[in-house]
Amino acid sequence: MNKVSVKDLDVKGKRVLLRVDLNVSINKDGEIIEENKIRSSLPTIQYLVEQGALVIIASHLGRPKGQVVEELRMDPVAKKLAEMLGMPVYKTDNVVGEEPLKALDMLKNGDILMLENIRFHPGETINDPQLAKEFARLADFYVNDAFGTCHRAHASTVGVAELLPSAAGLNMEKEISVMSKVMENPERPLVAILGGTKVADKIGLITHFIDIVDVLLIGGGMANTFLKAKGYQMGKSFVEEDKVEAAKEILAMVEGKKAKFVLPVDFIAASEASENSDQKVVAADSIPSDWMALDIGLETVDLFQEYLDTAKTVIWNGPLGMFEIEDFAQGTVETAHFIADLEAVKVIGGGDVVAAVERAGVADRMTHISTGGGAALEFWEGKELPALSVLPEKVKV
Ligand code: ADP
Ligand code: MG
Repeated sequence: MNKVSVKDLDVKGKRVLLRVDLNVSINKDGEIIEENKIRSSLPTIQYLVEQGALVIIASHLGRPKGQVVEELRMDPVAKKLAEMLGMPVYKTDNVVGEEPLKALDMLKNGDILMLENIRFHPGETINDPQLAKEFARLADFYVNDAFGTCHRAHASTVGVAELLPSAAGLNMEKEISVMSKVMENPERPLVAILGGTKVADKIGLITHFIDIVDVLLIGGGMANTFLKAKGYQMGKSFVEEDKVEAAKEILAMVEGKKAKFVLPVDFIAASEASENSDQKVVAADSIPSDWMALDIGLETVDLFQEYLDTAKTVIWNGPLGMFEIEDFAQGTVETAHFIADLEAVKVIGGGDVVAAVERAGVADRMTHISTGGGAALEFWEGKELPALSVLPEKVKV
């Protein structure tokens, strides 16, 4: 994949519509509690400003479902972005139409205008051609830097790209190059860790990974479903009952593969999924009927580390336990520290695992923290991402 880059465009004095992923978590007090996505968007914005383009920033925030939701306005994001850039970010209260056009007329080259939350418009998520036209009316060029929404064919990711000369932003290029390198041409051994809860979403990933990786370590709630499929009693543990059959098929399939498929051998189990509940370490095949497995146990942490220790490339999606609760965060946190210390290519992708790695304080010691959750999964699965496909390839000379 060799997409036309923002650097290939002659943007001086032009209006550039830049789709970024500024869908950040905001707490009840309206404070932004994660910066990774905003930080990742800075290089392209700065580049366009330096080149003397008029930059029009478009992002969604949360799920307003096609209507105005006051708490989901972009104002706090614009403020934070302005702080991080050290320059003003103007904002319009409309997604498209006369207001943003008027605002643009008053701005000059090198200025930044942020549009209102584009999902306030009902046309965004259905890729309404009319909305795409309205987006296109704002600008001369379209640049997509929002890797996290590439698996969605929306007006701001696909529709508008069909109407304007388009390119990939710098964050997008970095995502594509790191993510494809680890899948297509990784330094080996390649060890992948999959955790979290969504076996349903991740079956495709497992079947794809098993032919590529050298070792596949399984933790988190997902491991429970596999252990249940092996015939273990999982007590009150989180198990995706309707995926147990599929898990059996995967277990049979991985039997014949060269790659190692490794499940937890012990857990931190508890009577309740809460802080200060009764807790004990149990072997994977001896979970008491009224207990639940909430984190991988120490033996499993050690076992995973034995494999990770040899890795030249590590890919990690999904936390290894219910890390939101301190008592069940240890397996994930220790593994994060261990990976951070490795001399290897270390790529982390997935909403929750990224949050966990940031909370563990080791995000800056990873090679790459993907800004895409679902998009990263689909990319690794080898699926076509519509917003990537629509971006033009460089012409070979
Ligand atoms: P990601 O966002 O990294 O792809 P997922 O969304 O699949 O990860 O899963 C994250 C969730 O998995 C977290 O909310 C975490 O609490 C939960 N989880 C992990 N291990 C367990 C477990 N043993 N029991 C229940 N939930 C778990
Ligand atoms: Mg998640």
